Amino acid sequence: MTKRIVIGSGVIDSLVQHLPSHLTGCDKRFLVVSGPNVWRLYSNRIEHALGNSSLEVELVDSAHIEVANQVADRAESMRAHAIIGFGGGKSIDVAKYAASRLKRPFISIPTAASHDGVVSSFASLRGRERPTSFKAVEPVLLVADIDIIASAPRRLLVAGAGDAIAKFTAVLDWRLAHMLKNEYYGEYAANLALLSAKHIMRHRRTIASDPIAGTRVVLEALISSSVAMSIAGSTRPASGSEHLFSHALDMILERPALHGEQTGIGTILMARLHRIDWRKIKRVLRAIGAPTTARELGVPEGKIVEALTIAHTIRPERYTILGREGLTREAAEKLVLETGVIE
Ligand code: ZN
Repeated sequence: MTKRIVIGSGVIDSLVQHLPSHLTGCDKRFLVVSGPNVWRLYSNRIEHALGNSSLEVELVDSAHIEVANQVADRAESMRAHAIIGFGGGKSIDVAKYAASRLKRPFISIPTAASHDGVVSSFASLRGRERPTSFKAVEPVLLVADIDIIASAPRRLLVAGAGDAIAKFTAVLDWRLAHMLKNEYYGEYAANLALLSAKHIMRHRRTIASDPIAGTRVVLEALISSSVAMSIAGSTRPASGSEHLFSHALDMILERPALHGEQTGIGTILMARLHRIDWRKIKRVLRAIGAPTTARELGVPEGKIVEALTIAHTIRPERYTILGREGLTREAAEKLVLETGVIE
């Protein structure tokens, strides 16, 4: 479990106060993994916050396994005491993986609340045949600066809400796998994950209208989901058939949409299969400004249908409502029309 979580306005400036004592002092060396844009905007804040410690920076623009290994090599050669992920999903994932490989402390400073990977201990990296989720270290410290996260592009926050709402169907898939395949099911972790989806539903107006309070809602929902994963020891409570659909889109599209935008639409579709109130999920997504149709997602209709027919092959060991055989093309076409994902 993340040892310490600090959420608030301007908390990045007091970073050093929240560090574990063995990581403070002028002899300490940090490797900061960040993205070019984030670093341009906030490098002075981080440099200032870390005071006398020495710091090197690695700017990454992809979460590829090779990039992550290069970052780990650099951290090793500079004998970094800790690795800091400072940025969106990619920077955080790369830093998390590198820290994990070297068994060094990992500090997470997300600058966007775009999916629960920014706060979880699972790193999703590209470069294998399929998108892979690695169990990495839990951060010793998570610093979520509301002001910084609220000033990220709004599209990222809306996507984060789409990743949180996905827990409605992820948990149903988990229950199904428990009932049909006798898979381990943890009620506490399941409820915690559900809480994150319900939190978005309950506070949809805040997300729609108040950038600061809305950021806090989404961030809390994502943290709740990441704690659920920590307790379950897997991504099960947070990722079901709606995630398989999103991973399938990632595989077949040259330029996929954002993870949380795709899982949001996946949740509408899988909610229909699970026979829960998919209309309500669609209304909530629409209320916060998330895409609910193929057109709004910017994905060709045929690709949506194709992703639905191959989603069950992405992680065959993860049993979901899609079953072992998945949807036929006809069933997939019917589903997208019924839910209005294709109009
Ligand atoms: Zn997700």
